Amino acid sequence: MKLKKTNLVFLGAPGAGKGTFAKMLQEVVPLAHISTGDLLRAERASGSELGKQLAAIMDAGKLVTDELVGAMVKARLSRPDCEAGFILDGYPRTQKQAEMLNSILAAIGKSLDAVIFFDVPDDIVLERLTARLTCARCGAIFNKLCLKPAKAGICDACGGELIQRSDDSLETAKGRLEVFHSSTAPLIDFYRRNGLLVPLTELDKDKKFQDLLAALR
Ligand code: AMP
Repeated sequence: MKLKKTNLVFLGAPGAGKGTFAKMLQEVVPLAHISTGDLLRAERASGSELGKQLAAIMDAGKLVTDELVGAMVKARLSRPDCEAGFILDGYPRTQKQAEMLNSILAAIGKSLDAVIFFDVPDDIVLERLTARLTCARCGAIFNKLCLKPAKAGICDACGGELIQRSDDSLETAKGRLEVFHSSTAPLIDFYRRNGLLVPLTELDKDKKFQDLLAALR
């Protein structure tokens, strides 16, 4: 499939569907999926000193510093698999990160084509987060209520173990949603003003994917 818009930001609350739709889009277009949450979890899993510091911040549902995430994103965006386009999933999350992203892209001769805003009501997001199951091996996402795996506890895609992320407990999920409203939601207006924002409000998954493709063609 050929799309006109391939340098993308996926913006939305945790649990709004950014990761799920990034994986669906990757099946039809070879875009690099850059999830800062996944990059940070990989660092954390490595057991490094930095990883230990990250664990405390992430388990509390707080944001990691703009400088650290910015450096990770810059290195990742410079890799050759981003030539065909990329999906930034969960980045930027603050005004400062949005400004840093503009400088990073300018420095490597790229620019954004669209910012997709996954607009999902808070009550739905909370319900989804606390029922979310994530494959410990490949990162595929399931849900105890509406997207059950064929075999309980096992990933349909790779056979890995399905776990609940430590920050998907109700208490932490509520905190993460508050962080989204206070630190990240102002970016909706920021990107609306510069003409990049594409809000997706459809809740049906297949229809929403069609809306996404239509916005990128
Ligand atoms: P996610 O998988 O996107 O929900 O991210 C999980 C956690 O990683 C967040 O709750 C933050 O602690 C951290 N994180 C991910 N992306 C960012 C970012 N762009 N800026 C700061 N912290 C981040």
